[in-house]
Amino acid sequence: MSDTKPHKIIIAIDGFSSCGKSTFAKAIASRLGYIFIDTGAMYRAVTLYALEHGAIRSGIVHEEEVVALLNEMAITFRFNPERGASDIYVNGDRVEGKIRTIEVSNCVSAVSAIAEVRHKLVAMQQEMGRKRGVVMDGRDIGTVVFPDAELKIFMTADPRVRAQRRYDELTAKGDNVSLEEIEQNVRDRDYQDMHRAISPLRQADDAIVLDNSAMTVEEQMEWVMERIEQARN
Ligand code: C5P
Repeated sequence: MSDTKPHKIIIAIDGFSSCGKSTFAKAIASRLGYIFIDTGAMYRAVTLYALEHGAIRSGIVHEEEVVALLNEMAITFRFNPERGASDIYVNGDRVEGKIRTIEVSNCVSAVSAIAEVRHKLVAMQQEMGRKRGVVMDGRDIGTVVFPDAELKIFMTADPRVRAQRRYDELTAKGDNVSLEEIEQNVRDRDYQDMHRAISPLRQADDAIVLDNSAMTVEEQMEWVMERIEQARN
């Protein structure tokens, strides 16, 4: 029996905040007909739920209260053809539009440092990628979730460039934010994500670095398609 179709692989995309990981991962998934999973959205959904249920007060994350809420949260994804990606739901409510506010961004790194939160979400991510054919973006995909991913990319870009991109995105949606506040958040999250005790953000030894500070989306696609060809053979 011969199978000429390229076999399905896992593409792990990790890196700093606001590097355009999700946009990139989504474009790759749609090119390959793979499933795209934005794991940051899952940590953001837990954070939003904790904010709405009083487990984060005055910016302080109350760990045991967040952990207690975990059991009552069912996180699911449903494909939205308009976005060409899956929307995230918590207990049946679509929260996609509410998880990218600066309030959630300011608390998400503290929530994602909680062991029980990581344990639950990592198990879900591993299950979603069990059949391969996924592009997953996050902070620990190549190191913890899928250390056996066939292709690992570590994305980075100048923090100022990243802050400007996130600022443009939020102001286009009508959010009232300042560039300074965004840049501070990007730098704080980089620091917290790299210095937490469990699964800190780091480049996997076998990851390829992509610095996209001065690259267009088309240039990034060209760069990655070559590497995907190699990884699939
Ligand atoms: O990717 P995004 O910036 O939306 O992720 C939000 C936050 O979720 C990150 O700053 C990080 O604290 C956390 N995160 C994580 N592990 C992942 C994905 C995201 O800890 N795999």
